[in-house]
Amino acid sequence: MFSTLFQATGYKRALELFERGKFDEGKAVLKSLQEEFVAVCEENEVLKAQLSEVADVLDLAENIQFDGQKYWLNDDGEKKGPFCQVCYDRDGLLVHLHEHENHWECQSCNSLYMIPREGKSTPKRKAPLRTTLKKTIPLFLETEMG
Ligand SMILES: [Zn+2]
Repeated sequence: MFSTLFQATGYKRALELFERGKFDEGKAVLKSLQEEFVAVCEENEVLKAQLSEVADVLDLAENIQFDGQKYWLNDDGEKKGPFCQVCYDRDGLLVHLHEHENHWECQSCNSLYMIPREGKSTPKRKAPLRTTLKKTIPLFLETEMG
């Protein structure tokens, strides 16, 4: 805001100084405008980088899934994880859980997560979301009263 105002009034002032033949003063104004311009460019780069970081965080938040205990990351259809719930909720960090025989452990905050055991069955592969959605869901159920 200040920079834009400074530039707008600065150029006008430089022009006026040149018109009045005060070249040295005009040059000084132009020089400070140039410095200001370089600073604004640098600030712009920093802001762009921050914006990109925020976009990454938002993207991450969209692809993160909570299973009631831990977080999983859906990375282009590939499920990654699990990640520590405590660390993510507290610090926004995805900390890989270290797998033990019966539990996962966060080596950052030492939280423990039980590994659910469902017999010896091979892990079920969930059907892709799209095919699940294609199934028709009955909206009206006929019930016979009495
Ligand atoms: Zn943790």
